[in-house]
Amino acid sequence: MTLYARARRHAWRMAAVTVLAVLMVVVADRFVGHSTLAFAAAIVMLILANAPMLKFNCPRCGKNAFFRGPFVVFWPNRVCTRCGHDLDGPRA
Ligand SMILES: [Zn+2]
Repeated sequence: MTLYARARRHAWRMAAVTVLAVLMVVVADRFVGHSTLAFAAAIVMLILANAPMLKFNCPRCGKNAFFRGPFVVFWPNRVCTRCGHDLDGPRA
């Protein structure tokens, strides 16, 4: 599996966790009356789930596939923005 494919899978997993986190806060708010703890738990969950993101680095120059310049984007780059390496290629 290419780096781009793995990064893309991670992006989908993050989308699922984000939906789950929002649902958790909404449900807690509805049944408990407040969502402070659920909100804190959701944030921790999102940070933990997103930790593998830092491992999706370009094999040639080490630039993270989720960064476009100084910005972090939800969807990974197919081509490295620094050196142009094909992250969806056979040697990515
Ligand atoms: Zn690169």
